[in-house]
Amino acid sequence: MWRVADCIFCKIVAGEIPADVVAETETALAFRDLNPQAPLHVLVVPRAHVADVGELADVEPATVAELVRVARGVATDAGHDSYRLVFNTGEEAGQSVFHAHLHVLAGRPQAWPPG
Ligand code: 5GP
Ligand code: ZN
Repeated sequence: MWRVADCIFCKIVAGEIPADVVAETETALAFRDLNPQAPLHVLVVPRAHVADVGELADVEPATVAELVRVARGVATDAGHDSYRLVFNTGEEAGQSVFHAHLHVLAGRPQAWPPG
């Protein structure tokens, strides 16, 4: 497993800090966001550390699809057939944790364009 010592999501993947895990596969882990922005707000992360989804597409492209599959399962298992998937990529776009993660948001109407 490729990890970075001071990365919060690497610590969650390693079980070193607690998280409310809702789904897991060999390459991905899904857990509830600490500061939920919708009734369902889950983060789906690759187990391996990569900074963002673009880098993940280069080094582990199958895992990008896996994140989306897991995200769909999390939403539909919770009864939501309407959901939003977001990869904030880069600081200006709102990325604050530099371990790739897919936001799954559902359970309320969602405006477009986003802020
Ligand atoms: P970003 O802003 O990078 O797209 O999303 C990072 C997300 O991680 C935020 O929504 C934030 O609430 C969440 N987050 C940050 N630290 C933790 C943590 O320690 N545990 C969990 N479950 N979520 C976290
Ligand atoms: Zn990491």
